[in-house]
Amino acid sequence: MKITLLGTGSPIPDANRAGPCTLVQASDQNVMVDCGRGALMRLVAAGVMPPMVQTVLITHLHSDHISDLNDLITSKWVMTPVNIPLVVYGPPGTRKMIDALLQMLELDQQYRHAHHDDLRANGPLTVTVNEVKPGDRFALGEVSVSVHETDHRPVQPSIGFRVEHDGKVAALAGDTIPCAGLDELCRDADVYVQTVIREDMVKFVADMVPTGARFRDILDYHSTVEQAGQTAARNNVKNLVLTHYVPPLQAGQEDDWRSRAAQHYSGPIVIGPDLTAVEV
Ligand SMILES: [Zn+2]
Ligand SMILES: [Zn+2]
Repeated sequence: MKITLLGTGSPIPDANRAGPCTLVQASDQNVMVDCGRGALMRLVAAGVMPPMVQTVLITHLHSDHISDLNDLITSKWVMTPVNIPLVVYGPPGTRKMIDALLQMLELDQQYRHAHHDDLRANGPLTVTVNEVKPGDRFALGEVSVSVHETDHRPVQPSIGFRVEHDGKVAALAGDTIPCAGLDELCRDADVYVQTVIREDMVKFVADMVPTGARFRDILDYHSTVEQAGQTAARNNVKNLVLTHYVPPLQAGQEDDWRSRAAQHYSGPIVIGPDLTAVEV
């Protein structure tokens, strides 16, 4: 099983980091977890073309986690010779969001149908949507996935995905504070991917910018780097992978970030640029 951080950025635009997105490859499956800004460019850099992605798992419906989804839907559609719809799993609300995306793409679909006879013969652009809740379990080929509750309130519901294949487990948490569902999600996992923020830096920046109060609010509903280390240690995780760095992580700061998680967790801690990968 290979886990690649396609995008390690956050809502704050960054010249060097795409928005939140992680690629999980196991068996013959290419699964994207969230699909933030620039995810498709990184996907191709990881050697995966859009038609090769069968499934997208959505942790929650914050815009930074879904902003490249319309590009994935369109690119897969126009690049696939036969009509194989993208399959999306996400929390309740996902269907409404996808329906709105398809509405947005309606004119584009008309133009392409008018131009390409073979595409028109494939029928309308469709996406297969599965709204899931904590406790659900489903199979992607030989890969098994379970759904777990996370706590990103007031964003509700938010979920994480535990992906299992051939005795290996990857726990993909989105934005969440530590909670019982998160513990269940990552317990004994080979890889635990957690989106994180730096509490000290967020407070520092919040005091200096005009939107400081809004920025400080993000402390309410994200794991800090230290909390990610605590969650990993408490649940006997074998590898901790940090992503979605807020504020944007600058080159050379990796050891400072890593040391904060290492105060609580003695296993390997992965922090890096987009396309950093872990294989288990
Ligand atoms: Zn979020
Ligand atoms: Zn986020």
